[in-house]
Amino acid sequence: MNAKLGVSATLKYDKKHKFIRNLLFHYERLFMKLSVNIVGAGIAGLATSIRLASRGHHVTVFEKSDRPGGKLDFLQWQGFRWDTGPSLFALPDMVEELYVLAGEEMKTSIRYEKLDVLTRYFYEDGNVLNAFGDPDHFMEEVENVFGEPAHRIQQYFEKNKKIYELTSDVFIFSNFLRMGTFISQKFINALLQIWKLDSMVTMHEANVKRFESKQLIQLFDRYATYNGSDPYRAPGTLNVISHLEHNLGAYFPEKGMYALATGLKELADKMGVIFHFNQPVEKIVMARKVTQGVVVEGGIYPSDVVISDIDLFYLYRDLLEDVSFPVKQFKKERSTSALIFYWAIDKDFPQLDLHNILFSANYREEFRVLSHKREVYEDPTVYLFVSSKKVWNDAPEGQENWYVMVNVPENLGQDWDALIEQTRSNIIKKIDRMLGVKIEPLILKEFVADPRSIEANTFSHRGALYGNSSNSRVAAFSRHPNFIKKYKGLYFVGGSVHPGGGIPLCLASAKIVDQLIK
Ligand code: FAD
Repeated sequence: MNAKLGVSATLKYDKKHKFIRNLLFHYERLFMKLSVNIVGAGIAGLATSIRLASRGHHVTVFEKSDRPGGKLDFLQWQGFRWDTGPSLFALPDMVEELYVLAGEEMKTSIRYEKLDVLTRYFYEDGNVLNAFGDPDHFMEEVENVFGEPAHRIQQYFEKNKKIYELTSDVFIFSNFLRMGTFISQKFINALLQIWKLDSMVTMHEANVKRFESKQLIQLFDRYATYNGSDPYRAPGTLNVISHLEHNLGAYFPEKGMYALATGLKELADKMGVIFHFNQPVEKIVMARKVTQGVVVEGGIYPSDVVISDIDLFYLYRDLLEDVSFPVKQFKKERSTSALIFYWAIDKDFPQLDLHNILFSANYREEFRVLSHKREVYEDPTVYLFVSSKKVWNDAPEGQENWYVMVNVPENLGQDWDALIEQTRSNIIKKIDRMLGVKIEPLILKEFVADPRSIEANTFSHRGALYGNSSNSRVAAFSRHPNFIKKYKGLYFVGGSVHPGGGIPLCLASAKIVDQLIK
């Protein structure tokens, strides 16, 4: 199709016709099946495609890479397989919902189990704590290991549950642009009980008020990192994240995390969604603030609606013309990035579980260094994820596939090669010390991801894992919206827009956009 023709045809516009055009625009959206182009096949792009296709719209997805998933990705080497991005799977109901909409059964494509142990925590003082998925079992374990009375934990879980109930519909599942959100009963309820939301204290301050055990406080503070934030700065309301795991459970797909991408792609195929891989969108065509389609390989694919699932920075910089660049969005602090070593390990470690944390002895100092954005702390908290504990063919027998991650700042041009070398050595010393095994001779193969490669491979601005950080009290209100009223037919989903990064929130953005289009 000729790009020039497509654009100029839509430029025939004068004020006289504005009213009729608007009327037609809304009529189309109410009664007609729309043609929809989605830019990016990340988890939010996939979910959006399924939702819209299940309503009968004609959906096409353009993806720059050769496969679906975006940050949800994998790599393989000689009998080893690693999920390279997300490893934590919460709120599976949000994925189930897509299958229900499509009239399919999720278990025929993605099977998953509820984890008995959410995470195994290793402390420098020698303590090891199993965070059991069953709350009673967890409380018993904490009482035994740290001496923290069970009733305090019980009250904490109840409080976080309450905060979730008060806030989730307002802050996660609604579109903030809508006046309706602010006059809804749920918003008013949340407002009336704002003192219960811990929004005026930090996560750490809220946890210190509740518990005596420093180790338990550190455990709950760690939930800030689930969206790349800092527990010493992020509002206490975010302690709600621990509710997702401790009250609602943590899960793991039978075939590993990438199964979420393949499963949803298959479901989208069944719904008639058309995919174009290795086909980056070059421009989103707008005429008089109304979307016309997308430009791919120089030609226009026209559509009534365009939905972007790509990082906002690249969207505004490369794909949108005549749409003002939201400078303020990019002045905000970004979430953390990661330094990840994917190691093929020539031994199995019965002392490890699926998710393991080797805590720093000084968490506050770790985050202080992180907030300065230049260095990586010398004793970082190490996250060790071993999917072969659950997916037996992710590593050969007697060996393990380690994903060894530390939180690092976004990419600001630091000397990453030097930081990688130094941090690798610190991590190895820490693992040797805490697991009591010399690890270096057991590493058969190594792949490394750092903020530069995360940015280059996942197209995430400065390598941030979760878009903008949630370190400020107003972060939840100031994310980029899913829709801008003056630009008709253009919508935004994914980790860099409202309600934020992480699989559940990306799925929520897809739901919001589906509702907006409906
Ligand atoms: P993305 O995954 O960002 O995908 C966007 C897609 O758009 C990509 O496929 C890209 O190739 C494509 N694209 C870009 N430009 C174009 C273009 N011009 N044309 C066409 N296509 C284009 N979340 C969790 O819930 N749990 C975790 O444990 C977790 N851990 C993480 C660990 C790491 C290392 C990383 C990187 C992220 C992690 N996250 C985690 C965050 C989570 O992965 C993301 O929030 C989520 O996957 C983002 O999905 P998305 O839909 O926004 O799109």
